[in-house]
Amino acid sequence: MRDQHYTGRQRHYMEEALFEADQAALIGEVPIGAVIVHDNQIVGRGHNLREHGNDATMHAEIRAIEEACGTLKSWRLEECQLYVTIEPCLMCSGAIINSRIPEVFYGARDPKAGAVDSLYETLTDSRLNHTVTVHEGLLAKDAGERMVRFFKAARVRQKARKKAKRAAAQAQTEKTLDNQKKA
Ligand SMILES: [Zn+2]
Repeated sequence: MRDQHYTGRQRHYMEEALFEADQAALIGEVPIGAVIVHDNQIVGRGHNLREHGNDATMHAEIRAIEEACGTLKSWRLEECQLYVTIEPCLMCSGAIINSRIPEVFYGARDPKAGAVDSLYETLTDSRLNHTVTVHEGLLAKDAGERMVRFFKAARVRQKARKKAKRAAAQAQTEKTLDNQKKA
């Protein structure tokens, strides 16, 4: 299901997910955030923490699902909605299916890892015993801009690191030549 008409409440929850994405960006993590809503209340939230956790499974959706399961004291999130800023990957789509979340809202697509629309259509695959209603594009621009900004800054940092390394190597070479002259 593709629905471009979102309610104020739905936008509010995605703004909360964007807030989570910003928490990730603040500490240098790829800015992806998620919240899980039950009975109009946020019962789980999370942001990407892969680098700080040294853990490949620390995606925003997984962290939000873990927290929601703890809050609701159940692995079944049958009456919940998940809001996530970027299209879920294969791992997170698997977790969404296994936790029986019936409805997912996501912002921008991820052409390199998205497993909801871009590369696979896992959440709506009728061969699985659980399928999910998917809403794409909610505050997509805000979500996408955060990613673009993050990776642009990362490239600038990398360039600066390379430049510093080259300068250090150059200084070392000059020092060696200097010493050779003196000898
Ligand atoms: Zn993921």
